[in-house]
Amino acid sequence: MANPFNAALQQLKKAADIAQIDAEIVEQLRQPQREYHIAIPVRMDNGSLKIFTGYRVQHNDARGPHKGGIRFHPKTDINEVKALSFWMTFKCACVGIPYGGGKGGVTVDPKKLSIGELERLARGWARAMAPYIGPDKDIPAPDVYTTPQIMAWIMDEYSKAVGKYTPGVITGKPLAVGGSQGRGTATAQGGIYVTEELIKKMRLKNPQVVVQGFGNAGSFFAKLASKKGWKVVAVSDSKGGIYNPKGLDITKLFAHKQKTHSVLDFPGSKNISNTQILTLACDILVPAALEGVITKEVAGKIKARAIVELANGPTLPEADEKLAKRGITLVPDILANAGGVTVSYFEWVQNLSNYYWTEKEVFEKLKPIMVQAFNDVWSAGQKYKTDLRTGAYIHATTRIAAAMKARGQV
Ligand code: NAD
Repeated sequence: MANPFNAALQQLKKAADIAQIDAEIVEQLRQPQREYHIAIPVRMDNGSLKIFTGYRVQHNDARGPHKGGIRFHPKTDINEVKALSFWMTFKCACVGIPYGGGKGGVTVDPKKLSIGELERLARGWARAMAPYIGPDKDIPAPDVYTTPQIMAWIMDEYSKAVGKYTPGVITGKPLAVGGSQGRGTATAQGGIYVTEELIKKMRLKNPQVVVQGFGNAGSFFAKLASKKGWKVVAVSDSKGGIYNPKGLDITKLFAHKQKTHSVLDFPGSKNISNTQILTLACDILVPAALEGVITKEVAGKIKARAIVELANGPTLPEADEKLAKRGITLVPDILANAGGVTVSYFEWVQNLSNYYWTEKEVFEKLKPIMVQAFNDVWSAGQKYKTDLRTGAYIHATTRIAAAMKARGQV
């Protein structure tokens, strides 16, 4: 697969060229401030010792501590983590929360680990990284195949390392240990707020929606979308997808996935592949799985009128150009999926003040942030006569540049 970090750099370059952003700022943003490569020894259940490779990349902290999830995936490598870390810097700036960017990962297939092995791996990551993370330094969170339980283990291990209960070191925790109401559905909910704004701008009525990926981001997006009366006609997970042009019953689909561990063979629907799902006829396509799935070739075949990127980096730069030429509107990841990090920010604020909010309060605070960010990005796109991704990068980079200049970093 293409190197996602190169794709990320191309996105910044396009924005920098159009908005004539200070070259010294761009040069600093082209590379992460720090990269950690760690070896994590884990005692396996069969008595053997296995060494896993882990990472943390701290891209930029001009606007606040580094912030970003940890991914456990067999294909995770340093270029992926660098790209994800880079996108976090721009995402936090895009929605205006006071953080920089960071990201972590471990090259592992967590589905092949027992629960005990998974816990030892998570604790190993936390022990190795404890000197370099912290509530005012770098605050991890969940990402693909990492869960609230994993966040709790990491928080516990870090708390032991520093000798005090420190819930603010990580977000996406269970409610019992300082998690926030609403964090589980925040990415999807933020995506819904942004999609509502898009629907208004595009004057779409009762949109038909396709969602690739049925994990934290995708499954809750599908659920909330169908609750709003939008017709979700297809979804997929790592094993493949399902399609029903009359619309899927998402509540029943949740039960089916829980029972069979897959969306496939859902009664009343047709099984399709993960490539087919991207080119189905619909109004809004929501990639919510992994990066790099919308290639130039796929972009030429997409029939959706708009794309809302709930996943990070699903669209390659050549595909972006193709989509723009074909008049398909794309709401970029650094805006569309920023609901997750925004509620992570709320979780951290609650941890630091030791005062907790209701779910209603969380979403009342999230909505205006997402709506404002969407309209800021839309305006930047109009002002510079460019696509929304480039508009989002211009908007975000302006904020980062202001912080770098104020701090005397350029
Ligand atoms: P998750 O682990 O909860 O779910 C991942 C989903 O993707 C699963 O349904 C899995 O079956 C599916 N999947 C894996 N490989 C696939 C493939 N090859 N084709 C199709 N589907 C595949 O992860 P998540 O947290 O939902 O993350 C999904 C995307 O959203 C990632 O790009 C992540 O970076 C992004 N994201 C997540 C959050 C969050 O708060 N969870 C926030 C912002 C962005």
